[in-house]
Amino acid sequence: MRKPYIAGNWKMNLDRASGTALAKALADAVSDDSVEVAVAPPFVYLAAVAEAVKGSSVRVGGQNMYHEASGAFTGEVSAAMLLDVGCDFVILGHSERRHVLGETDEEINRKVHAALAAGLDVILCVGETQAERESGSTEAVVKRHMTQGLAGVTAEQMARVTIAYEPVWAIGTGLTATPEQAGEVHQYTRGLLSGLYGSEVAETTRIQYGGSVKPSNAAELLAVPDIDGCLVGGASLKPDQFLPIIEAAKSLVS
Ligand code: PEP
Repeated sequence: MRKPYIAGNWKMNLDRASGTALAKALADAVSDDSVEVAVAPPFVYLAAVAEAVKGSSVRVGGQNMYHEASGAFTGEVSAAMLLDVGCDFVILGHSERRHVLGETDEEINRKVHAALAAGLDVILCVGETQAERESGSTEAVVKRHMTQGLAGVTAEQMARVTIAYEPVWAIGTGLTATPEQAGEVHQYTRGLLSGLYGSEVAETTRIQYGGSVKPSNAAELLAVPDIDGCLVGGASLKPDQFLPIIEAAKSLVS
């Protein structure tokens, strides 16, 4: 069985005091590792958050990184730097990186390779916009994000990759894909993994759902067979919102 994986993407929110307080609350509350729990704070708070969760099973990761190892790349952060401040994973290809900051599949693929080569795990985000869904191209978009984002990644490396299906129209909007809508795309995505890597990788790779996940909808989404966890934005910023989502995942495995 795939262990549920609940990750919080803090985006450009919180400050040092509130971020470390939230991290400590999570570290105190996550008492076992039946569910994998992770947070992705802004770069500048990574070290403080990593310190705050030290000794617990809460993982810390970056929200992005650059593919080069070092050099004249003003404003960028490398995989080695993320590792150096206590990260063990990185989120790549988030829709805000794609659609607000203009990242291409080719750039994302370079980052995936750099992250895996350096020893970071990867959460690769894929998903369609509202217009793409309305024009019937959801599967084509997910297929492009998957095939181009994972180009050259080996079956062995896939053990360190998680896919996050995040319909762009559901991110931060309060609109959530229904369990049926999400389930259809998750099933399709697992089929893509099977075609790309074979059935073993398809069966072991976790596919998170992301898009306005909250305590009131987490259980029904997590109950969908191909949904293996959630990537949570807004609701990951407060313990009283994030912890019930973790509990919902726990109740499925206990
Ligand atoms: C996200 O940032 O990946 C996300 C899904 O955000 P939200 O939960 O706020 O929709």
